[in-house]
Amino acid sequence: MNVDTSSKMPAIFFGHGSPINVIAENDYTQALRSLGKNLPKPKAIVMISAHWETTGTWITGMQHPKTIHDFAGFSDELYAVQYPAQGLPILAEEIAAMLVDQNITVDRNKWGLDHGTWAVLRHVYPHADVPVLQLSLDQNQPPAFHYALGQKLALLRKQEVMLMGSGNIVHNLRKINWDTDAKPYDWVVAFDHWVKDKIITRDFQPLIADVETMPEAKLSIPTWEHYLPLLYILGASNEKDMIDFIFEGYQNASMSMRCLRFS
Ligand code: ZN
Repeated sequence: MNVDTSSKMPAIFFGHGSPINVIAENDYTQALRSLGKNLPKPKAIVMISAHWETTGTWITGMQHPKTIHDFAGFSDELYAVQYPAQGLPILAEEIAAMLVDQNITVDRNKWGLDHGTWAVLRHVYPHADVPVLQLSLDQNQPPAFHYALGQKLALLRKQEVMLMGSGNIVHNLRKINWDTDAKPYDWVVAFDHWVKDKIITRDFQPLIADVETMPEAKLSIPTWEHYLPLLYILGASNEKDMIDFIFEGYQNASMSMRCLRFS
């Protein structure tokens, strides 16, 4: 019997919440920092961020991706933050070539790193010393497409590439309470726990195909972009992976900050 002993990089989903977490000192940011101290250093990170929605799938292919401050109404301190990680253009080309049927376009000068990416990585890899590529969300595709693309990306984990998704399992800006520690709504907790249970039992199909039939889904996923990065990470996992929840909790009453790792 062949035993697969080759090492593979983890695939990690991050809830990122409000941009305040970039500079906040709380149990969530502490969890990200202690995670970073225990992670291997990959050749590169491929990050699927909620904040890059496109027509078709794109991947950043510039050597020096700019730090994008894609939010409004926050303090000057947040706008001053830079995350000067390098890109890795050759890897972007390789991924586009490897996934030729998925028709991924290499972006040379438009995007960069948005706050879905650097709000998380600033805590996990504070020295910005790992190259980062962002993969966009094709806004015209259904959940099953995003899960299937995650399955295709899984093989990168054996090529020293760490896959990360950044969004939120529950994200409702209309219901937000600007007190970070506000008590979460019942539907937030219910939906978050339902998703957690499906992940633990590796029963992913309901999270892809039937999620809209859940009564709490309408409020928990009013738009898809913060939920979809999770599907990439589920797609990139396999049954041999261990699952651990790096962080469990809620912010602003309407956001699940759950983070999880397959490794
Ligand atoms: Zn966001």
